[in-house]
Amino acid sequence: MTERVVRGVPASPGVAIGPVVLLDGPREAGGDPEVALDTAAAELAAAAARLRESGHVDEAEILDANRLMALDPALRAEVRALGVTLPPDQALLDATARHAALLDALGDSALAARADDVRALGRRAVNALGGGGGFRLSEPAIVAAVDLGPAEVAELALDADRLLGLALARGAVTSHAAIMARALGVPMVVGIGELVAADLALVDGDAGTVVVDPGQDALARGNASRARRVRAAAEAAATRELPAVTRDGRAVRLLCNAATAAEVAAGLEAGAEGVGLLRTELAFLDAPRWPDEDEHAAALAPLLSLLGGRVATVRTLDFGADKTPPFLAGIHERGIALLLAHEHALAAQLRAVLRVAGAASLRVLLPLVESPEQVRAVRALLRGDSPPPIGAMIETPAGVARVTEIALEADFLSIGTNDLVQSTLGLDRESPEASIAMAAHPDVLAGIRSVTRAAAAAGLTVEVCGEAAGDPEIAALFVALGVDELSVAPTRLDDLRAAIRRLDTRDALLSDELREDGRELVDRRGGVVA
Ligand code: PEP
Ligand code: MG
Repeated sequence: MTERVVRGVPASPGVAIGPVVLLDGPREAGGDPEVALDTAAAELAAAAARLRESGHVDEAEILDANRLMALDPALRAEVRALGVTLPPDQALLDATARHAALLDALGDSALAARADDVRALGRRAVNALGGGGGFRLSEPAIVAAVDLGPAEVAELALDADRLLGLALARGAVTSHAAIMARALGVPMVVGIGELVAADLALVDGDAGTVVVDPGQDALARGNASRARRVRAAAEAAATRELPAVTRDGRAVRLLCNAATAAEVAAGLEAGAEGVGLLRTELAFLDAPRWPDEDEHAAALAPLLSLLGGRVATVRTLDFGADKTPPFLAGIHERGIALLLAHEHALAAQLRAVLRVAGAASLRVLLPLVESPEQVRAVRALLRGDSPPPIGAMIETPAGVARVTEIALEADFLSIGTNDLVQSTLGLDRESPEASIAMAAHPDVLAGIRSVTRAAAAAGLTVEVCGEAAGDPEIAALFVALGVDELSVAPTRLDDLRAAIRRLDTRDALLSDELREDGRELVDRRGGVVA
């Protein structure tokens, strides 16, 4: 076998070497496709139960929704009809592909995410035909697939010590599957444009490459890089007690992003001072209606109870775009604008947050703020004895344009770089082009600078809670621009703290130089500065 290097986009750091298990490859499979759908449903139910037991409630709910799809009578009728003329595996793949294409054709990104789930269900059912046993790995392996949904990554990760790495033909860095891979610490490369079919592969989640059938030299380099990483991780973990202060004395508050109690616990364990972004909508992506106060309280209480005395930044529901539950299908509004149009739903969530905050140091964060009136409207709803600070997330050029006025109404600001990158540069967040490095694009850095200036003028702190905040090189630019807090996936905290302790922001004080640094970084990481 000759060695071949395939380039993609780095999606989750680290190096993995191992045999390849193909999730989308052709399989020889006989049997009844409807029984395979039953098996898929049973596997999803079992995996959801295991995830729930391990505290991953949101991921469990995604699997439950996929289970309902497996039982959908329309899908089953189509599988039966196609099964008359096609082999069972083809009938399953074609029927699910047709359903997915119908959802794709509606041009709604939330439904497109569901289309991916239907395709994933087809793959799972074919796997079941071959007696596959779901997406469990029987031995340590690198998983290669065209694309994976977050539910599949979560299920694969139940065998965390066996899931060595992920190599996807498609996929995107800010997709929820990639966010999950980073949360789990599994190296991942996306957008390599092919399904890796090989006995052995090396996934380099830092360089964004997959080495197919690596030779002795590549293996030796990969092993050395893995050993360096393990050493660096141990060294970085040993600094957990040390403050995140730059060499020129700037203190940076490190917080973690979380949606589950398991992530809050992992973040605190890795030295986070608290939670800088609690994504509340992920628990309700399949809700049949707006959640009521008790449902919010039940979802939040287990997380907030871990945060006594620490900062708990609870973001109000960020529905819309790729996070649209079925009952809101077809809507165009997003974030706080959508919630303010349904004030009873916002009020119910705010009551629940206040009710279960307990001893946590609560902050309320509003997604996609674009006007000072939006902050004022929420403040009116939060009137009481000791209302919590209200933060405004700036995630669009429209928000940046009015940030000076917004800063006069808010108590702190937070920058959502995942959305800011796509809205500033006109990229699709679910595409490989929207790589993390694009957050260093000079136009994005210019937006961030406007936010830090407005915050400084109003005496507010600024956090960044998009994925780029967990990238030490890019986070260094953010800190140089005046960002005070970084909120990142728990697995990014050790590296980030070590990088901040090495940083001297006096090296990067001129805005022109920063723009150049950003341009150079984007270029080096394979992005394009238009
Ligand atoms: C962001 O857009 O950067 C962000 C943190 O919010 P989300 O990823 O949940 O849209
Ligand atoms: Mg966002």
